[in-house]
Amino acid sequence: MNHESRILDPVPVHAANPGPMTGAGNWTWLLRGRVPTLIDAGTGEPAHLDSLERALEGATLDQMLLTHAHTDHASGAPALRQRMPALRFRKMLWPERDAKWPVPWDAIADGEVIEAGDTFLRAIHTPGHAPDHLCFWHEETRSLFCGDLALAGSSVWIPVSLQGDLGQYLASLERVLALGPARMYPAHGPIIEEPVMLLRRYLQHRREREEQVVDALSHGDHDPTTIVARIYEDLRESLRPLAHESVLANLIKLEREGRVSRDGERWMLSPGR
Ligand SMILES: [Zn+2]
Repeated sequence: MNHESRILDPVPVHAANPGPMTGAGNWTWLLRGRVPTLIDAGTGEPAHLDSLERALEGATLDQMLLTHAHTDHASGAPALRQRMPALRFRKMLWPERDAKWPVPWDAIADGEVIEAGDTFLRAIHTPGHAPDHLCFWHEETRSLFCGDLALAGSSVWIPVSLQGDLGQYLASLERVLALGPARMYPAHGPIIEEPVMLLRRYLQHRREREEQVVDALSHGDHDPTTIVARIYEDLRESLRPLAHESVLANLIKLEREGRVSRDGERWMLSPGR
């Protein structure tokens, strides 16, 4: 790689999709240069496509790299294809989900090095929030396009009903922490300038939450609803379903580890634990 390959100057292009599930909406990231590349597709809002074209300054977008196939990241793929027919669509495949966005998806493998902009990115498989979740790593600047792995000021939702997996998510956080990132570009919220601190805080928070769930089980709570009532104080009604799913993600992780078992809807600590 020559000196030019060290340059990384991503342009944020807002997806113009604010809403209850996305907050202020999603960021997509444009890398201009030899291989014009967009990270994430947005949701197909015309305002997003217009901003993207302006940011391209007359260049032709070569490829879109997808962090994962959740709606707010992927559903804009068909609209992008309509406006830019030669565009390549690349992601780690999740066939039953990818079929929702009918474009020709090309597979990205874990560890694959991809030319993007004037440089190269490495795909890092980081499942947990979604089974197909990829981060894109720029070694020279220790920068990571982190998708929904992390966001400043909040924790990440693990949707167990959509193949979310807390155990995998924690392993993904450890994997990214081991890279020693200096900066992370998320899909929601501001650029993360102290990612190591944030990742450590995330891991600590999840450990504490797990201890609370184990503690609740040991005090005779046996289902997610009563566990939520014990460990989340002053929970807004609208956040109750998310808290419920978060506790369920914890219980499933503990079950896989043999620390918890269930009998129908009744959860309990495994004997001898
Ligand atoms: Zn997501």
